Amino acid sequence: MSNPNAAQAPVTVIGLGLMGQALAAAFVKQGHPTTVWNRTSAKAEQLVADGAVLAESAESAVAASPLVIICVSDYDAVHGVLDPHAGALAGKVLVNLSTGTSAQARETAEWAAQRDARYLDGAIMAIPPVIGTDGAVLLYSGPKDTFEEHAATLGALGAAGTTYLDADHGLSALHDMALLGLMWGILNGFLHGTALLGTAGVKATTFAPLANQMIKEVTEYVTAYAPQVDEGKYTATDATLTVHQDALEHLAHESEAVGISAELPRFFKQLVDRAAAEGRADESYAALVEVFRRGASA
Ligand code: NAP
Repeated sequence: MSNPNAAQAPVTVIGLGLMGQALAAAFVKQGHPTTVWNRTSAKAEQLVADGAVLAESAESAVAASPLVIICVSDYDAVHGVLDPHAGALAGKVLVNLSTGTSAQARETAEWAAQRDARYLDGAIMAIPPVIGTDGAVLLYSGPKDTFEEHAATLGALGAAGTTYLDADHGLSALHDMALLGLMWGILNGFLHGTALLGTAGVKATTFAPLANQMIKEVTEYVTAYAPQVDEGKYTATDATLTVHQDALEHLAHESEAVGISAELPRFFKQLVDRAAAEGRADESYAALVEVFRRGASA
């Protein structure tokens, strides 16, 4: 059941690093009575000036609101802060927005259940200045009714991007890792391309618009390949793995010829070579998922 008075719903934010401060500021801005606590209390100064209440201890911060959000460096820090006051969590909803693994998320869900708290694990796919805007994507996993009860309050962090995933507490952390991997793949491709073009005096700022156009085009590949992966059928309607193999060899060779690192294209080619050696040379690029699925030992 959603909270009919979400705008007035009190909320506690524990952890006031760069991200925690942005989270608390967004709740204050939306008019939520906001209690905050941080190991280093000086970081609460601006928030208190803006209307937040600084709790004297982590325990009183937990006691102050039915909805308790924690955003600290990692899960060890979460337990470092909350373990000594675990009794105060009974009857609360704890939302952990600290980054960690899916196993840590599931373990913390059990830890919270043993203390009679309901638990949501979350992942923030945004930087602090974007929190509270439509650009902020926050992923949540855990009991759906618990999420729905507080969805309107959590919407203060970015209503458009507030996304519920699944009852499995581990799924937000797993999506976080998958999406960060995607980000590094794209950024490394951009930076390798920038180094390549830099050898001919092309500036990164000149390359950026074309790079962004290509990134947009690749979104079409993702859309086309996803059903192939789900069906396990990799029909090459665009290009075969052999074509990709040849193109990757060109990229590696060009990189070596102009004196930049060829590690990235050589690594990509190794993966394609493995798939081709397994009889997938005539399949689409999506067939590479089979190489990833088996791990390095295969
Ligand atoms: P940060 O600026 O380094 O702040 C770290 C926070 O954790 C501070 O409040 C710090 O308290 C607290 N902390 C660390 N160890 C602690 C301990 N042992 N006991 C008590 N408190 C402890 O980091 P951040 O950028 O706010 O990031 C916080 C979380 O958000 C991380 O898990 C991060 O991965 C995630 N995140 C961040 C971003 C981002 O762009 N910043 C984006 C997505 C997700 P003190 O102030 O006392 O040191």
